[in-house]
Amino acid sequence: MHAYGPVPSRRLGRSLGVSPIPLKTCSYNCIYCQLGRTHRQQISRESFYPREEILKDVQKVIDTSKTDYITFAGDGEPALCKDLGWLIRQCKKNWQIPVAVITNASLLFMKDVRQDLKESDVLLSKLDAGSEDVFRRLNRPDNSIGFEEMLEGQVDFRQEYSGKIWLEVMLVAGLNDSDISLMDIRKAIELIKPEEIYISVPTRPPAEPWVMPPVPERIIRAHEIIGSALDLTQYESGEFGLGDFTDVRTAIIEICSRHPLREEQARAIEKKFAKAGCIDEMLSKNILVRVEYRNISYLLPAGFVRGPHTGD
Ligand code: SF4
Repeated sequence: MHAYGPVPSRRLGRSLGVSPIPLKTCSYNCIYCQLGRTHRQQISRESFYPREEILKDVQKVIDTSKTDYITFAGDGEPALCKDLGWLIRQCKKNWQIPVAVITNASLLFMKDVRQDLKESDVLLSKLDAGSEDVFRRLNRPDNSIGFEEMLEGQVDFRQEYSGKIWLEVMLVAGLNDSDISLMDIRKAIELIKPEEIYISVPTRPPAEPWVMPPVPERIIRAHEIIGSALDLTQYESGEFGLGDFTDVRTAIIEICSRHPLREEQARAIEKKFAKAGCIDEMLSKNILVRVEYRNISYLLPAGFVRGPHTGD
Protein backbone atom coordinates (compact mmCIF):
# COMPACT_ATOMS: atom_id res chain seq x y z
CA MET A 1 0.00 0.00 0.00
CA HIS A 2 1.30 3.43 -0.92
CA ALA A 3 -1.32 5.37 1.06
CA TYR A 4 -1.92 5.19 4.79
CA GLY A 5 -3.74 6.96 7.57
CA PRO A 6 -4.92 9.54 8.07
CA VAL A 7 -2.30 9.81 10.82
CA PRO A 8 -2.29 12.57 13.46
CA SER A 9 0.29 15.17 12.55
CA ARG A 10 1.42 17.98 14.78
CA ARG A 11 1.39 20.43 11.87
CA LEU A 12 -1.08 19.02 9.35
CA GLY A 13 -3.94 17.82 11.54
CA ARG A 14 -5.26 14.58 10.01
CA SER A 15 -2.83 13.82 7.28
CA LEU A 16 -3.25 11.07 4.71
CA GLY A 17 0.24 9.88 3.90
CA VAL A 18 1.34 8.81 0.44
CA SER A 19 4.67 7.15 -0.16
CA PRO A 20 5.67 6.96 -3.82
CA ILE A 21 9.10 5.41 -3.16
CA PRO A 22 10.53 2.18 -1.72
CA LEU A 23 11.32 2.05 2.00
CA LYS A 24 14.25 4.21 3.06
CA THR A 25 15.18 5.50 -0.37
CA CYS A 26 16.67 8.90 0.26
CA SER A 27 19.31 11.40 -0.75
CA TYR A 28 20.22 11.77 2.93
CA ASN A 29 21.08 9.32 5.68
CA CYS A 30 20.25 11.50 8.70
CA ILE A 31 21.60 10.31 12.01
CA TYR A 32 18.20 10.90 13.64
CA CYS A 33 16.01 9.29 10.97
CA GLN A 34 13.09 7.45 12.54
CA LEU A 35 13.08 5.00 9.62
CA GLY A 36 16.57 3.78 10.40
CA ARG A 37 19.60 3.99 8.13
CA THR A 38 19.14 4.67 4.42
CA HIS A 39 19.04 1.48 2.36
CA ARG A 40 19.24 3.13 -0.99
CA GLN A 41 20.96 6.50 -1.23
CA GLN A 42 20.59 8.27 -4.55
CA ILE A 43 19.76 11.56 -6.23
CA SER A 44 18.49 10.21 -9.55
CA ARG A 45 14.73 10.33 -9.96
CA GLU A 46 12.74 7.24 -10.94
CA SER A 47 9.22 5.97 -11.48
CA PHE A 48 9.50 3.36 -8.77
CA TYR A 49 5.90 2.17 -9.18
CA PRO A 50 3.19 2.67 -11.79
CA ARG A 51 1.72 6.07 -10.95
CA GLU A 52 -1.88 4.86 -11.46
CA GLU A 53 -1.27 2.20 -8.78
CA ILE A 54 -0.27 4.90 -6.27
CA LEU A 55 -3.35 6.95 -7.08
CA LYS A 56 -5.60 3.91 -6.73
CA ASP A 57 -4.23 3.35 -3.21
CA VAL A 58 -5.08 6.95 -2.28
CA GLN A 59 -8.60 6.39 -3.58
CA LYS A 60 -8.93 3.33 -1.30
CA VAL A 61 -8.14 5.14 1.94
CA ILE A 62 -9.31 8.67 1.30
CA ASP A 63 -11.99 10.03 3.59
CA THR A 64 -12.67 13.54 2.38
CA SER A 65 -14.47 14.52 5.56
CA LYS A 66 -11.59 13.52 7.81
CA THR A 67 -8.51 14.41 5.79
CA ASP A 68 -6.96 17.84 6.26
CA TYR A 69 -4.03 17.22 3.91
CA ILE A 70 -2.87 14.62 1.42
CA THR A 71 0.79 14.44 2.28
CA PHE A 72 3.54 12.99 0.10
CA ALA A 73 6.20 11.68 2.43
CA GLY A 74 6.51 8.28 3.96
CA ASP A 75 9.47 6.15 3.29
CA GLY A 76 12.30 8.53 2.41
CA GLU A 77 12.61 11.48 0.00
CA PRO A 78 9.41 11.73 -2.10
CA ALA A 79 10.99 14.09 -4.65
CA LEU A 80 12.97 11.08 -5.90
CA CYS A 81 9.72 9.96 -7.53
CA LYS A 82 9.66 11.22 -11.10
CA ASP A 83 5.86 11.20 -11.14
CA LEU A 84 5.42 13.47 -8.16
CA GLY A 85 4.11 16.49 -10.11
CA TRP A 86 1.53 14.35 -11.93
CA LEU A 87 0.44 12.68 -8.69
CA ILE A 88 -0.04 16.01 -6.91
CA ARG A 89 -2.10 17.38 -9.81
CA GLN A 90 -4.30 14.28 -9.87
CA CYS A 91 -4.91 14.40 -6.11
CA LYS A 92 -5.92 18.05 -6.25
CA LYS A 93 -8.20 17.46 -9.22
CA ASN A 94 -9.89 14.36 -7.78
CA TRP A 95 -10.37 15.32 -4.15
CA GLN A 96 -9.95 19.09 -3.72
CA ILE A 97 -7.91 18.56 -0.56
CA PRO A 98 -4.73 20.59 -0.02
CA VAL A 99 -1.54 18.72 -0.83
CA ALA A 100 1.59 18.92 1.29
CA VAL A 101 5.02 17.45 0.60
CA ILE A 102 7.46 16.57 3.34
CA THR A 103 10.88 16.87 1.76
CA ASN A 104 14.46 17.22 2.85
CA ALA A 105 14.71 19.89 0.12
CA SER A 106 18.07 18.57 -1.05
CA LEU A 107 16.99 18.12 -4.67
CA LEU A 108 15.57 21.60 -5.20
CA PHE A 109 18.67 22.52 -7.17
CA MET A 110 17.11 20.43 -9.98
CA LYS A 111 14.69 22.34 -12.17
CA ASP A 112 12.30 19.40 -12.69
CA VAL A 113 12.05 18.85 -8.93
CA ARG A 114 11.18 22.53 -8.38
CA GLN A 115 8.61 22.27 -11.16
CA ASP A 116 6.93 19.27 -9.51
CA LEU A 117 6.96 20.68 -6.00
CA LYS A 118 5.42 23.94 -7.20
CA GLU A 119 2.18 21.98 -7.63
CA SER A 120 1.84 21.54 -3.85
CA ASP A 121 0.13 23.90 -1.39
CA VAL A 122 2.58 23.47 1.47
CA LEU A 123 6.17 22.37 1.47
CA LEU A 124 7.43 21.01 4.76
CA SER A 125 11.13 21.29 4.23
CA LYS A 126 14.22 20.84 6.33
CA LEU A 127 17.37 22.69 7.21
CA ASP A 128 19.41 21.28 10.07
CA ALA A 129 22.77 22.81 9.25
CA GLY A 130 24.21 26.15 8.25
CA SER A 131 27.60 24.83 7.18
CA GLU A 132 29.09 22.06 5.06
CA ASP A 133 30.70 20.35 8.03
CA VAL A 134 27.54 20.05 10.15
CA PHE A 135 25.53 19.15 7.04
CA ARG A 136 27.81 16.19 6.33
CA ARG A 137 27.89 14.96 9.91
CA LEU A 138 24.17 15.30 10.61
CA ASN A 139 22.33 14.68 7.33
CA ARG A 140 25.07 12.53 5.76
CA PRO A 141 23.97 13.53 2.22
CA ASP A 142 24.80 11.71 -0.99
CA ASN A 143 28.38 12.70 -1.93
CA SER A 144 27.15 14.63 -4.95
CA ILE A 145 25.15 17.15 -2.86
CA GLY A 146 27.06 20.06 -1.39
CA PHE A 147 25.73 22.39 1.28
CA GLU A 148 25.85 25.52 -0.92
CA GLU A 149 24.06 23.80 -3.76
CA MET A 150 21.33 22.52 -1.42
CA LEU A 151 20.85 25.99 0.05
CA GLU A 152 20.79 27.66 -3.35
CA GLY A 153 18.07 25.22 -4.45
CA GLN A 154 15.94 26.20 -1.46
CA VAL A 155 16.47 29.91 -2.11
CA ASP A 156 15.58 29.56 -5.82
CA PHE A 157 12.48 27.57 -4.98
CA ARG A 158 11.29 30.25 -2.57
CA GLN A 159 11.39 32.81 -5.35
CA GLU A 160 9.36 30.62 -7.71
CA TYR A 161 6.83 29.13 -5.27
CA SER A 162 3.50 30.67 -4.34
CA GLY A 163 2.62 28.08 -1.67
CA LYS A 164 3.74 28.07 1.94
CA ILE A 165 7.10 26.83 3.16
CA TRP A 166 7.21 25.44 6.68
CA LEU A 167 10.81 24.81 7.48
CA GLU A 168 11.88 22.45 10.23
CA VAL A 169 15.17 22.52 12.08
CA MET A 170 15.96 19.31 13.95
CA LEU A 171 18.31 19.91 16.86
CA VAL A 172 20.69 17.20 17.98
CA ALA A 173 22.84 17.54 21.10
CA GLY A 174 26.48 18.27 20.32
CA LEU A 175 25.90 18.49 16.55
CA ASN A 176 24.03 21.69 15.74
CA ASP A 177 23.07 23.24 19.08
CA SER A 178 26.12 25.46 19.69
CA ASP A 179 25.71 29.24 19.32
CA ILE A 180 27.91 29.19 16.20
CA SER A 181 25.90 26.42 14.52
CA LEU A 182 22.63 28.11 15.40
CA MET A 183 23.80 31.43 14.00
CA ASP A 184 24.84 29.71 10.76
CA ILE A 185 21.38 28.13 10.54
CA ARG A 186 19.73 31.48 11.15
CA LYS A 187 21.71 33.10 8.31
CA ALA A 188 20.64 30.34 5.91
CA ILE A 189 16.99 30.62 6.98
CA GLU A 190 17.07 34.35 6.32
CA LEU A 191 17.87 33.55 2.70
CA ILE A 192 15.12 30.95 2.35
CA LYS A 193 12.41 33.14 3.92
CA PRO A 194 9.95 30.43 4.98
CA GLU A 195 6.46 31.36 6.22
CA GLU A 196 7.00 29.31 9.35
CA ILE A 197 9.98 27.86 11.17
CA TYR A 198 9.71 24.89 13.50
CA ILE A 199 12.29 23.74 15.99
CA SER A 200 12.10 20.06 16.76
CA VAL A 201 14.14 17.37 18.48
CA PRO A 202 14.29 13.60 17.95
CA THR A 203 11.26 12.07 19.68
CA ARG A 204 11.27 8.59 18.12
CA PRO A 205 14.07 6.00 18.03
CA PRO A 206 16.78 7.42 15.75
CA ALA A 207 18.95 5.66 13.14
CA GLU A 208 21.93 6.06 15.45
CA PRO A 209 21.21 5.18 19.07
CA TRP A 210 23.58 7.80 20.49
CA VAL A 211 21.53 10.67 19.04
CA MET A 212 19.96 12.77 21.78
CA PRO A 213 18.01 16.02 21.92
CA PRO A 214 19.79 19.05 23.37
CA VAL A 215 19.21 19.96 27.01
CA PRO A 216 16.26 22.38 27.51
CA GLU A 217 18.58 25.38 27.95
CA ARG A 218 20.02 24.85 24.46
CA ILE A 219 16.53 24.55 22.97
CA ILE A 220 15.60 27.87 24.57
CA ARG A 221 18.84 29.33 23.21
CA ALA A 222 17.96 28.04 19.75
CA HIS A 223 14.64 29.89 19.92
CA GLU A 224 16.47 33.05 20.98
CA ILE A 225 18.97 32.86 18.11
CA ILE A 226 16.71 31.63 15.31
CA GLY A 227 13.83 33.83 16.47
CA SER A 228 10.07 33.54 15.75
CA ALA A 229 10.22 29.75 15.54
CA LEU A 230 7.42 27.50 16.70
CA ASP A 231 8.19 24.71 19.09
CA LEU A 232 7.73 21.17 17.87
CA THR A 233 9.52 19.33 20.62
CA GLN A 234 6.44 17.60 22.10
CA TYR A 235 4.93 14.25 21.13
CA GLU A 236 2.03 14.20 18.70
CA SER A 237 -1.37 13.07 19.96
CA GLY A 238 -4.59 11.89 18.32
CA GLU A 239 -5.80 8.71 16.73
CA PHE A 240 -4.45 6.83 13.73
CA GLY A 241 -6.90 6.27 10.86
CA LEU A 242 -7.26 2.56 10.37
CA GLY A 243 -8.87 2.96 6.94
CA ASP A 244 -8.94 -0.29 5.05
CA PHE A 245 -7.20 -2.45 7.62
CA THR A 246 -9.21 -5.52 8.48
CA ASP A 247 -6.77 -7.15 10.89
CA VAL A 248 -4.75 -5.79 13.73
CA ARG A 249 -1.43 -7.39 12.73
CA THR A 250 -1.33 -5.74 9.32
CA ALA A 251 -2.48 -2.42 10.77
CA ILE A 252 0.27 -2.31 13.39
CA ILE A 253 3.06 -3.53 11.09
CA GLU A 254 2.09 -1.14 8.27
CA ILE A 255 1.76 1.89 10.53
CA CYS A 256 4.86 1.32 12.59
CA SER A 257 7.06 0.64 9.57
CA ARG A 258 6.46 4.25 8.55
CA HIS A 259 5.76 5.90 11.84
CA PRO A 260 7.25 4.11 14.86
CA LEU A 261 4.43 3.68 17.35
CA ARG A 262 4.67 4.34 21.03
CA GLU A 263 3.65 1.10 22.71
CA GLU A 264 0.66 2.85 24.25
CA GLN A 265 -0.52 3.89 20.73
CA ALA A 266 -0.12 0.33 19.42
CA ARG A 267 -2.08 -1.07 22.37
CA ALA A 268 -4.89 1.43 21.65
CA ILE A 269 -5.06 0.11 18.06
CA GLU A 270 -5.14 -3.47 19.37
CA LYS A 271 -8.04 -2.53 21.63
CA LYS A 272 -10.00 -1.09 18.71
CA PHE A 273 -9.82 -4.43 16.93
CA ALA A 274 -10.68 -6.21 20.21
CA LYS A 275 -7.76 -8.57 19.69
CA ALA A 276 -6.01 -8.71 23.03
CA GLY A 277 -2.70 -10.58 22.98
CA CYS A 278 -1.74 -9.86 19.34
CA ILE A 279 1.06 -7.44 20.19
CA ASP A 280 2.52 -9.78 22.81
CA GLU A 281 2.41 -12.62 20.32
CA MET A 282 4.18 -10.55 17.65
CA LEU A 283 6.80 -9.56 20.22
CA SER A 284 7.36 -13.15 21.29
CA LYS A 285 7.70 -14.28 17.66
CA ASN A 286 10.13 -11.44 16.96
CA ILE A 287 7.85 -9.90 14.30
CA LEU A 288 7.91 -6.72 16.35
CA VAL A 289 10.68 -5.45 18.57
CA ARG A 290 10.46 -3.08 21.49
CA VAL A 291 12.89 -0.17 21.43
CA GLU A 292 13.34 2.18 24.36
CA TYR A 293 14.17 5.77 23.53
CA ARG A 294 14.19 8.53 26.11
CA ASN A 295 12.32 6.29 28.58
CA ILE A 296 9.47 5.62 26.17
CA SER A 297 8.80 2.25 24.68
CA TYR A 298 8.29 2.05 20.89
CA LEU A 299 7.34 -0.85 18.68
CA LEU A 300 9.10 -1.41 15.35
CA PRO A 301 9.02 -4.16 12.74
CA ALA A 302 11.92 -6.51 13.44
CA GLY A 303 13.41 -6.05 9.97
CA PHE A 304 14.24 -2.37 10.47
CA VAL A 305 17.92 -1.58 9.93
CA ARG A 306 18.99 0.49 12.88
CA GLY A 307 21.84 0.98 15.21
CA PRO A 308 22.76 -1.62 17.81
CA HIS A 309 19.63 -1.02 19.88
CA THR A 310 17.41 -2.81 17.31
CA GLY A 311 17.20 -6.00 19.25
CA ASP A 312 16.40 -4.50 22.67
S1 SF4 B 1 15.06 12.01 8.15
FE1 SF4 B 1 14.14 12.27 6.14
S2 SF4 B 1 15.76 13.15 4.94
FE2 SF4 B 1 16.73 12.26 6.70
S3 SF4 B 1 17.32 10.20 6.07
FE3 SF4 B 1 15.28 10.07 7.03
S4 SF4 B 1 13.87 10.19 5.35
FE4 SF4 B 1 15.83 10.94 4.59
